[in-house]
Amino acid sequence: MSVAPKVPAGTPGAEAAPAPAPKVRRSRKPTLDAAVAAAVDLAREAAQEVAEPGTVGEHLGAVAEGDRLASHVFECLLPGYRGWRWTVTVVRASRARNVTVDEVCLLPGEDALQPPAWLPWAERLSPGDVGPQDTLPRKADDPHLEQGFESAGDEDTDAVALWELGLGRERVLSAEGRDAAATRWYEGDRGPRAEIAEHAKAPCSTCGFFLPLAGSLRQVFGVCANEWSPEDARVVSVDHGCGAHSETDVEVVAEPPSVPLIDDLSPEGLELFGPDEPSDEVPAAAGATR
Ligand code: SF4
Repeated sequence: MSVAPKVPAGTPGAEAAPAPAPKVRRSRKPTLDAAVAAAVDLAREAAQEVAEPGTVGEHLGAVAEGDRLASHVFECLLPGYRGWRWTVTVVRASRARNVTVDEVCLLPGEDALQPPAWLPWAERLSPGDVGPQDTLPRKADDPHLEQGFESAGDEDTDAVALWELGLGRERVLSAEGRDAAATRWYEGDRGPRAEIAEHAKAPCSTCGFFLPLAGSLRQVFGVCANEWSPEDARVVSVDHGCGAHSETDVEVVAEPPSVPLIDDLSPEGLELFGPDEPSDEVPAAAGATR
């Protein structure tokens, strides 16, 4: 039988040996060790050492965490901790008989009463929460803002940028920020669907108190400058409106003639009969109701 000679790796003409397949480690589900599973009393004592008296309840079971390692779970009877569990992890060393306590902790069960997830302060605030002495954290990556513009060196171009683009500010409103503001304003209380606008006789676009905004937003929005309007100093859409519009007026309705009053309690002064024809009878006209 002929045996092919071994060719050392790296020798010209030698074929590259296939790389060995990586070993795949299969995770094995841990089994519950009998001694560890039986250590319920040990686990209960450990829980009672850290818990307030009388707050370690019924044993709810044991969960295998690893080889000879398991967690015993007890109901928590603390007021306000509905659904929480005292969890005591116990372990037995290899070839040892004794089971020892690893750790004790209070963990929420599936139906545990829990506080809302923690939110950083900056994310917890809502629009309108900022008070007179508050300062918001600066958002370096706010999508509603983008870099400001530097001077182009041309007077006319800079003049436009100065007014329209906010030259001189580090950041200006981005397209996304502008869209968000426009949508919010238009769908809000100073857009066309507000109740006051639906009852208005004419839109803001025809009102003398309407000051259009600068930039592209001027096509749809302006500021109301009428002290009699509930929208004074606020941004309103061109199709908003109110009863203080500069060119509308109240309808003048002519007052109906008043009903004549007849005094039917003192008929003496009426003299409906001549002095030669005295009568005790009150004339029908004088007895008429008012
Ligand atoms: S007074 Fe009324 S109609 Fe005129 S701009 Fe203000 S909100 Fe619009």
